[in-house]
Amino acid sequence: MIKFLDLTKQYKSIQNEIDEAIKAVLAESAFIGGKYVKQFEEEFSAYQEAKYCVGVGNGTDALEIAIEALELPKESEIIVPANSFIASSEAVTRAGHKVIFCDCDLRNYTISIDSLKSKISKKTRAVVCVHLYGHPCDMDKLIAIAEEYNLKIIEDCAQAHGAEYKGRRVGAIGDIGTFSFYPGKNLGAYGDAGAIVTNDDLLAKKCRMIANHGRIEKYNHEFEGRNSRLDGLQAAVLSVKLKHLDEWNNKRIAIADFYIKNISNVPEIILPKKEEWAKNVYHIFAIRAKRRDELKKFLEGLGIQLGIHYPISLPKLKAYAYLGQTNDDFIANTFSSELLSLPIGDHLSENDLDFVVKAVKEFHK
Ligand SMILES: *Cc1c(COP(=O)(O)O)cnc(C)c1O
Repeated sequence: MIKFLDLTKQYKSIQNEIDEAIKAVLAESAFIGGKYVKQFEEEFSAYQEAKYCVGVGNGTDALEIAIEALELPKESEIIVPANSFIASSEAVTRAGHKVIFCDCDLRNYTISIDSLKSKISKKTRAVVCVHLYGHPCDMDKLIAIAEEYNLKIIEDCAQAHGAEYKGRRVGAIGDIGTFSFYPGKNLGAYGDAGAIVTNDDLLAKKCRMIANHGRIEKYNHEFEGRNSRLDGLQAAVLSVKLKHLDEWNNKRIAIADFYIKNISNVPEIILPKKEEWAKNVYHIFAIRAKRRDELKKFLEGLGIQLGIHYPISLPKLKAYAYLGQTNDDFIANTFSSELLSLPIGDHLSENDLDFVVKAVKEFHK
């Protein structure tokens, strides 16, 4: 059996460190707020090269709070790429704005710059750029468009912990960036957790207040916020795991290189392209296969676990039927039948990788 994800194996490899960290939180009852949350926020902002990090409850809350903090006029249009997880667009609606989908780039699968431009209207105020699969978006081009049309840039970094654009870590390149620490992400907690990063003092303060009932001090509520907190246990786990993130990301990169080298001569398969300015941390290794469903069945029959990211593009979901973008001429609306995610992660051995490559080749013989 070759697993898509193996969090138990990862836990066993760092069990002493994790158990000590959890014991310390329990001994001090540092469950909400406190030094472990503060420590992780400092470590993570330093790691992502951002001035501020605000820990929150999960990656979806991070997006909602970040968008709310931007204080855009109600019912602003915010452009979101069509191939992502629903959280990227859900947050726009929940913050009181209108989702407009644009296409993705056929080389690296992040937001298509040309498609984005074609969707800008007088009401457009922001763009959510998703560093999808761990590959950064083309930030210089996005920033040029944002300056021309006066748009805010929200970076959805849920799949891109440690990813770099032209040598700079993602997150605080645009106005504000959001992270998820869902257990299966490149940096994952042992439950739900998320964070917001930014270089902007006011945005950071606003996010912290929104996430904590509109207050900075106890009982002095300046406005109605909400409760979305990174808790002490998750923060302590994340501080331990952050120390291993580079090593785990490097392993993902090595696996991706191995797949690319060894699957490159299968004509029916399109491999992901890494731009020369990108450090891709390969949260997902997505290939496109002509006979995807048959290939998937064949590989699963051999005990290889796979994923599809995503089987239905966002505009085609029932949730977005009301937008009427189902039949937009998007690559993202048609290629979901070809996408297939191969196993990638620190749990895989060289034998596992050989097995996957041989199986893919065997199917295409
Ligand atoms: C996982 C993910 C999220 C949401 O994160 P949660 O912590 O599960 O709320 C948002 N955007 C993208 C692109 C994701 O992959």
